[in-house]
Amino acid sequence: MSIFIQGTVASNGYALAEAMIYRGIEFELQAHEIKNTPTELHRLDEAIATSIQQVTALRNQTLESLGSQEADIFEAHIYLLQDPEFIGAIKNLIETQHVHAEFCVSKVTLQYMQLFEGMIDDYMKQRGSDLRDIGQRIIANLRKEPYGLTSLLQIPIILVARELSPSDTIRLDLRHVKGFITEEGGQTSHSAIMARSRGIPAVVGLSNLLENIHEGDLLLLDGVAGTVMINPTYEEQNDFEQRVRDFENERVGLMELKNMSSTTSDKHSIELAANISGLADLPSVIEQGAEGIGLFRTEFLFMNRTSLPDEEEQFEVYRQVAERMTGRPIIIRTFDIGGDKQLDYLDLPYEDNPFLGYRAIRISLDRPELFKTQLRAILRASHYGNIRIMYPMIATVEEVRLANQMCAEVKQDLIQQGIPFHPQIEVGIMIEIPAAALLANQLAKEVDFFSLGTNDLIQYMMACDRMNPHVSNLYQPFHPSILTIIKQVIEAAHQSGKWVGVCGEMASDPLAAQLLIGMGIDELSMNASQILPIRRMIRTTSFTQLQQIVKTSLSYATSDEVKAHLHAEFAKLQKNVN
Ligand code: PEP
Ligand code: MG
Repeated sequence: MSIFIQGTVASNGYALAEAMIYRGIEFELQAHEIKNTPTELHRLDEAIATSIQQVTALRNQTLESLGSQEADIFEAHIYLLQDPEFIGAIKNLIETQHVHAEFCVSKVTLQYMQLFEGMIDDYMKQRGSDLRDIGQRIIANLRKEPYGLTSLLQIPIILVARELSPSDTIRLDLRHVKGFITEEGGQTSHSAIMARSRGIPAVVGLSNLLENIHEGDLLLLDGVAGTVMINPTYEEQNDFEQRVRDFENERVGLMELKNMSSTTSDKHSIELAANISGLADLPSVIEQGAEGIGLFRTEFLFMNRTSLPDEEEQFEVYRQVAERMTGRPIIIRTFDIGGDKQLDYLDLPYEDNPFLGYRAIRISLDRPELFKTQLRAILRASHYGNIRIMYPMIATVEEVRLANQMCAEVKQDLIQQGIPFHPQIEVGIMIEIPAAALLANQLAKEVDFFSLGTNDLIQYMMACDRMNPHVSNLYQPFHPSILTIIKQVIEAAHQSGKWVGVCGEMASDPLAAQLLIGMGIDELSMNASQILPIRRMIRTTSFTQLQQIVKTSLSYATSDEVKAHLHAEFAKLQKNVN
């Protein structure tokens, strides 16, 4: 009988494929005695030879797709796999202790890693994580298991994991990975957001997933209902295929709205923009008729690499985005590193509460050399299109003033060097910390616009980790406090003559979007795939009616009451439209 598990939708779409389980590789800390040392040494030699073959293939592939700097990472891996000292230490342990190879690889790798990780020099520290990668690869080959997400897939699969990091998600090979499902994670975890930008179906927060699924099981991933079916019957597969066809038909119908405006029936317009994480997202942004880019999460340019992108590299990306968006506005958010987006090579301190710690603008103001390099790249690119700058995680007026001062210094340098940029470039801030939301009237005097980061605003207002499925019941976008604070921010911005958008996931939820529009929001920025459904909704509603609905919605005490009211009101509106 087929097994059915319900989770949370992370990214819309459907997939039918075999399961590939990604557990990551754990080091073996228990030694088992072996009888035959030569056999064990032979097993090790074979695993090392396979590892060298795999890494050589990866190096060649990387050289072709990304370039020599990235390929060098794998060159260093090959070098370590042939290093007589490292490999000699593993062999020596097998020969003297007569214990199994997996344990010896783990032990020697961990010893070497400790050595490297204790070093002060950043470059040398980085060699520690290279070693981990190599040690885990040898162990995977000893166990004859596939290694990591870089393993070369040949058939379509659905990836099954306890959790995927944003860097794992960006590395998924979409030719073969048709979707992913995880035990951990929520709708606004960054891997979910990445999945949506890459257009790959995903369901997260599925309990007991790894206990129920075996490698090679056939899976039906329903990224609309948020379910997974394991080993479906023939009828269930047929039914699923019909749902996929309906989904595709719906998509075709929406494309007719691509070049239409996002205007309500009583002529109130909202700008519908897209969130992106890099150049790879641009084709779907253009294809889905986005009116601009409301959030470019630039921190993704800093991930999956071993050193910082320099000014030239960043400039190239921003310039290309500017040119390809042909005059439409682009909000480039300065890097929001920290929280669940960590960078090994930056050597950030370990934190018990990374979401409350050294993150985003806090790092930028503390490391002006990083921040100014990025500002310089953005300003230079502003000469090529309609670029705006946005600072993330603002909590105080002083932070904005300091960031603006650094921006002014960079502008001054560019003027002196005769490098062109847009002198009146708009600068805005994310409103995602409650303290900033409550101070919106003061902050509005310092900037040109606000963008509400509801993903973080909700987690900080509700004291509820956006990544933690155990408290997801408290992650309530419709909580009366959240709605009240959003309305206050919109009013404060408008009183100062500034515009305000939303770039958190609330913008793409039709129910929430209607409330936000009724509150007077000027712009909604979301995953490109949501733009056309939201545009269709806008074109069939009236702004005056939405304003009325907002008024009554704010009188309720609980999220459920608000949602029930909204469902009832929108059902009435729909009836009137039809
Ligand atoms: C947000 O917090 O709503 C937001 C858009 O930023 P991020 O999801 O990158 O933290
Ligand atoms: Mg945020």
